[in-house]
Amino acid sequence: MERITIFDTTLRDGEQSPGCSMNVPEKLRMAHHLDCLGVDVIEAGFPIASEGDFAAVQAIAAVVRRPIIAGLARACSKDIERAWQALQGAARPRIHVFLATSDIHLKYKLRISRQQCLEQAIEAVSLAKSFCDDVEFSPEDATRTDPKFLCQVVEAVVAAGATTVNIPDTVGYTTPVEFGELICTIRENVRGIENVTISAHCHDDLGLAVANSLAAIAAGARQVECTINGIGERAGNASLEEIVMAMRVRPDRLAYETEIVSEELFPASQMLSEITGVAVQPNKAIIGRNAFAHEAGIHQDGMLKNPLTYEIMTPQSVGVPDSKLVLGKHSGRHALGLRCEQLGHQFDRHQLDEVYRHFVVLADQIKHVEDVHLLELISAIQKDRAAAADDRARMKSIPLDVPAFSAARPESGHGHSKLLRSMSVSSGAGHVSFPLNPMAEHHNDQEDYLWGV
Ligand SMILES: [Zn+2]
Repeated sequence: MERITIFDTTLRDGEQSPGCSMNVPEKLRMAHHLDCLGVDVIEAGFPIASEGDFAAVQAIAAVVRRPIIAGLARACSKDIERAWQALQGAARPRIHVFLATSDIHLKYKLRISRQQCLEQAIEAVSLAKSFCDDVEFSPEDATRTDPKFLCQVVEAVVAAGATTVNIPDTVGYTTPVEFGELICTIRENVRGIENVTISAHCHDDLGLAVANSLAAIAAGARQVECTINGIGERAGNASLEEIVMAMRVRPDRLAYETEIVSEELFPASQMLSEITGVAVQPNKAIIGRNAFAHEAGIHQDGMLKNPLTYEIMTPQSVGVPDSKLVLGKHSGRHALGLRCEQLGHQFDRHQLDEVYRHFVVLADQIKHVEDVHLLELISAIQKDRAAAADDRARMKSIPLDVPAFSAARPESGHGHSKLLRSMSVSSGAGHVSFPLNPMAEHHNDQEDYLWGV
């Protein structure tokens, strides 16, 4: 298995995204967790950008000693010197220098020629190298750079001493096949490339950041730059948890390994959300609230029989405490029965049918039936039964030949007593009254399954 270096930029590229800025103690807390997670490189900040960034890089470099600590710098001496000041206490420092190489950036942003760009890149890498052995160079906007010029710049910075060459898809523009080809082009045309690590840095503007990163690895990249929860500029960076778990779950197709302790993925994600106050979308792969939730009846039934039916990885493997069976209108009797048991109520088939019928109507109204609702429902049904039994007992003392009574017996049909009719449950949205009308019959398992297909 080929070893892939995980370069985490949650604290630099991630932190640059709206709403995700962190102060020094918060960055330090996150950096400790990234260390526990097993990332190889922590890009701790952009020291020239602010006093806070400088202080964070310095603080992290001082106390987080296992991973490489990287600091970002533009290709100019004041940035590189400042980065080095922040990093010099690190056990394993890395200076990460970047300079745009696409014509559009050269012309409109930097207002320099290709030749000036080439010279500036060499000069910057040489300066960084004079401070630090470990130097990474990124030709910003590489995917929109003329590949010939890109190879020329990469060859020059490798000769100047860069040890990692990172190819950024800065604007999230490339596609997997194209990006794989670009990595191959660099490997085939750059002298000395075999002596350095090729890295990929992808943004998710087209939702392709993870796919592009994996394509780059397949083409020979051995470092990926990514963030927890995929936070980052605009649509974000490639998501660390998705890249890592794709390799972990599909070693047959992605025969690569990382040092990531996957059980720390969910805790890391939770910590980041807690610090930034930015929630993860519920359907986010790996660490979203619903990533291991199963609501459809047929899925729940399969899951309870054997989790492999619908789970390609266990929630425990990524640190999610337990797989969550959400009780909603698509749930079947099996899941409902199990939840009732967990709440301390065991029902036989006939009783469960009754609970299920009421449950379906309730679920239609309040979407997610929480335990508290279920308990109210069970209690109402039990009171109803007790009342019905009382009625029967009273009826026994009345002569059976009174015709009006047999038609009014509570157990005929699916009569609902006053108690059930008047029952109401409180949901997040307020008070929901319990339905007056009994629902259609759901008498066999096949019908449960149809809800979920
Ligand atoms: Zn970026």
